[in-house]
Amino acid sequence: MTEAFAPSVTALGFVLAFLAAFAMLDLVKRLESRLDGPAFGWLAGASVAFATGLWSALVVGIDQLNLSYALGYHPGLSVGVWLFAAMFSSLSLAVACRRATAAARCLAGAGLMASGVVVTQILFLGALSLRPGITWPGPAVGTAWLCAGLGCACALWLHAEVRARAPRYLMAGQAVSALMLSTAIVVSQGLVLGAAGLDVQTSSAWQDRVPADSMAMLVTVGSIALLSMLLLLSQLEARWRDSLTGLPNRQIFEGTLAQATQRADASQGRVALLLVNLDGFKPINESFGHRAGDRVLREIAARLRSLAQAHMVARLGGDEFLLLIPDNPSIEDASGMAARALASTCLPCRIDGREAIVTSSIGIVMYPQHGALSTLIAHADAAMRVAKGSGGATYCFFEARMISGLREQTELLRDLRRALAQGELELYYQPKIHAPTGEITGAEALMRWQHPKLGMVSPTLFIPIAERYGLIGSLGNWLIDEVCRQIRVWRDGGLRMRVAINLSVHQLRQPDLVERIGRALRDHDVNPGLLTCEITESVAMEDAEGTIAIFNRLTQLGVSISIDDFGTGHSSLSYLRKLPTSELKIDRSFVLDLETSEDARKVASAVINLAKSLDLKVVAEGVETEGQNKILREFGCDQLQGFLFAKPMSAKALALWAMDDVGPRTMNFRSSLFKETCAAELV
Ligand code: C2E
Ligand code: CA
Ligand code: CA
Repeated sequence: MTEAFAPSVTALGFVLAFLAAFAMLDLVKRLESRLDGPAFGWLAGASVAFATGLWSALVVGIDQLNLSYALGYHPGLSVGVWLFAAMFSSLSLAVACRRATAAARCLAGAGLMASGVVVTQILFLGALSLRPGITWPGPAVGTAWLCAGLGCACALWLHAEVRARAPRYLMAGQAVSALMLSTAIVVSQGLVLGAAGLDVQTSSAWQDRVPADSMAMLVTVGSIALLSMLLLLSQLEARWRDSLTGLPNRQIFEGTLAQATQRADASQGRVALLLVNLDGFKPINESFGHRAGDRVLREIAARLRSLAQAHMVARLGGDEFLLLIPDNPSIEDASGMAARALASTCLPCRIDGREAIVTSSIGIVMYPQHGALSTLIAHADAAMRVAKGSGGATYCFFEARMISGLREQTELLRDLRRALAQGELELYYQPKIHAPTGEITGAEALMRWQHPKLGMVSPTLFIPIAERYGLIGSLGNWLIDEVCRQIRVWRDGGLRMRVAINLSVHQLRQPDLVERIGRALRDHDVNPGLLTCEITESVAMEDAEGTIAIFNRLTQLGVSISIDDFGTGHSSLSYLRKLPTSELKIDRSFVLDLETSEDARKVASAVINLAKSLDLKVVAEGVETEGQNKILREFGCDQLQGFLFAKPMSAKALALWAMDDVGPRTMNFRSSLFKETCAAELV
């Protein structure tokens, strides 16, 4: 028996089982964020993956046995066993997936899964029709079931726990869970094969059908191809979908919208677009916590999803959703849908036994009456704002008068596109000062736009427009490349400047942000340690799971993360502790009032102490007076930034200052910033 056990646990079988378990868990993630219609496809995919792993590990394992008779497979029976395994996996996954955090569900799922595993193995051997025939010893089969159950339970529990509590270790957790599952499969396989006593059999009924070695070859290639494809599909899906709600993201939705308008053009029909913005979502995040906020968003997403056809609801960001009605809707159809969306969003959501109530404000646009494709979302947004302004919990159709000011915005947007193409944008750099020594240690990159007619346009004006109309991605890409290029130029000139860039929420949602930063660093041969990404507190706290994932990937690159405008958002301290950040920036508003307001002093000192206790550096921004400077130094602030020391300046001006001391203030640049001085190359 031991002889049969050892070789049947082959490395190849284990690899197949592991790949299958990993793909299955990955597909389960897609399934869990969408518990409605299309979820069925993912459930099927996950079950097929698991069944394939289980079944192919058997084929491969048996092929390795040194049996004295020729073994063959009956194609129909083999497929039947595989089908059985797939159906049983579906059942156990359906049980385990519905909120697997509950221990009972985990156990039930694992029990079912283990039964599926062992019964499949027994059926598989039965289907070989061996002679004289297998007599199953009860205790050995029971042990196999227990081992499989234990492995499955641990794996399911770990997977659910990591997802809920430590999403930053999601991939590692998934790999460990897959390892447990594959171990459960191969161990129970070993025990079942041992119990079957294949060596005392004398012949197989199907030895003239498919021979065991051809089957093993076929199954290995087929399984690897199938499992890789399923894994790829799952990964593609993750890129197209919002990770929190599982709804399509803006990019995908815009594609669908464009197609719908094209069809409308062709048939002279109409399209309606609803922009749903939740009222009173912030207080929920504040009083119930972020995980509860996430649950509400998921719940609302699922309700909206059930109102509309597949692919017609998307999450625009934060607490905003888009809903599309293609196929020539009337005004009444659109208002009817808006009324249903209002009614469904304002039903209470139960969170941990308490009830949270949100309502929504909805803006509606009709295509083509209310504008061209490129303006539809902006116009729906304008209408939504009017609905919100009138007290919320209502909907409003777009009207032209809602966009006074919008025309200027559209013009500015057009100019901004051109500015980007023609290089009218520039980065300015504002030095950061090391408080104890007064030396310059780095700089923050701030965007500047010299408009040919309007003069200098403030980033506080054009960044929000770029965000609203989807131009921020290109703007950010330019910024990332430009900053790395500049760091390289300085570095070549002997100045090792650390630079911080600002990332907006839309950039964080770009699937390729991290790759892009990595590529720019590599292209310009820049040490990642020289780059910091500033992300505002409100954004960092928003979409917990996704944010942690991105932060982790950035940190892995070697880039530092700083939480900007700290004190203006609502941080959950436990969450803050989990984020891999290295710096907090106290918001300017607190610095502004330092000399006059006791409260501002309390906040500033509390933030500095908090940062110290979390082992984070703290930067104060907007330091304008000697008084503020003194207070902040006394509080023990690490770094200072503000007009008192220097306004943002061109890269050239900063280099001149560093090299020749021609600057706004006599100040030393930290000596470690210099490699070897060759000022001539710098300017
Ligand atoms: P921020 O990240 O909080 O940047 C600091 C802002 O405070 C800058 O304004 C800076 O010029 C200003 N500032 C610095 N010291 C002082 C001071 O002592 N007194 C006063 N009154 N102001 C001071 P700026 O350059 O107008 O940028 C405003 C905001 O625009 C930034 O706020 C940031 O949120 C955004 N922004 C700027 N550049 C970029 C960019 O490249 N990408 C993104 N996504 N956002 C950017
Ligand atoms: Ca900043
Ligand atoms: Ca700031």
